Amino acid sequence: MPARQKYRLRARSDREIIREVEPGVTYVDAETGEEFQVVGALLPLAPSPSNLPYSVENLRLCGCSLEQLVQNDLNDCTHCGRRLPAVER
Ligand SMILES: [Zn+2]
Repeated sequence: MPARQKYRLRARSDREIIREVEPGVTYVDAETGEEFQVVGALLPLAPSPSNLPYSVENLRLCGCSLEQLVQNDLNDCTHCGRRLPAVER
């Protein structure tokens, strides 16, 4: 399953949500009607146990020019599609 990057979105009143975003989609605060702006991408160090596969010890560089971190257990880079070498254990 491909890793989905999560982003921090903030409204003018400083209300924040964290979610995946789709390009070209406008996200609106359901309570205030304010538009959310993306203010940053979340680091792959989320404290939730369900996100532990993204902790730093489970990631490696894919080796392509994009220099992106990918999960150790993936066979192909999620950024460039390059086949990843076998993990040395
Ligand atoms: Zn790559």
